[in-house]
Amino acid sequence: MPNATSEAAQLDDIEVRPIAFSANAPARLEFADVDTWIFDLDNTLYPADSDLWPKIDQRITAFMIHLFGLDGISARALQKYYYRRYGTTLRGLMINHGVDPHAFLEFVHDIDRSALLPNLPLAEAIMALPGRKLILTNGSRAHARLTAEALGLATVFEDIFDIVDAELVPKPERATYEKFFAKHHVDPKTAAMFEDIDRNLCIPHEKGMITVLVVPKPGCDDRREPFEIAASQNLPHVDFVSSDLERFLRDIAAHTIPSAQSAES
Ligand SMILES: [Mg+2]
Repeated sequence: MPNATSEAAQLDDIEVRPIAFSANAPARLEFADVDTWIFDLDNTLYPADSDLWPKIDQRITAFMIHLFGLDGISARALQKYYYRRYGTTLRGLMINHGVDPHAFLEFVHDIDRSALLPNLPLAEAIMALPGRKLILTNGSRAHARLTAEALGLATVFEDIFDIVDAELVPKPERATYEKFFAKHHVDPKTAAMFEDIDRNLCIPHEKGMITVLVVPKPGCDDRREPFEIAASQNLPHVDFVSSDLERFLRDIAAHTIPSAQSAES
């Protein structure tokens, strides 16, 4: 099994990495034309080493134990197989077993969020970005809303595009992004996307969005599956990598907002 910690550490070494630009052309200037800022939810807007995603992950396993009468190890193996094969475990359960998606989503997102702390610096950093801000998640709207509230981000986003809006077809499927662009009138060529799973940035990059892979801070646990942890530092669909989303956004805002630029001059 790959060593998740060491591979994450490799990514951290290239934090806020301007892949396509020289040191004399600050990467942040590439965001000057962005008018729509799109964020994944889980392990992107809250730290990957928080206890939230493991709770959801364990609820999914519990759902499958109950559904199939499997032992925990077998249920876990099937859960991860479906996740990798279909993008979400739910998708695999729907296609292969006709599982009611709404019952699944309600069960797996019924978790204690009390350990999540409000992140007001992140809220301020997102609000300072010029333009619209949206959440694009493979989870449910209720989960995204409750989690955003716990993080102090409830008023930051214009809307949430959830797995039900995506007609239960998850990222990284092309159709999901097409539905998202259409519903929210997003021009991908003037949009940026922030995600912790690199495969979910393939279509955004192809459509012309600026893509940012958000990775755990140095020394923090990495909640991604081993196959999701990038083996290469040169993923062609990842424009930037950051282990500090708040700092990355503050840096963008400080150098792309006209009033901020004029105030500095
Ligand atoms: Mg995520």
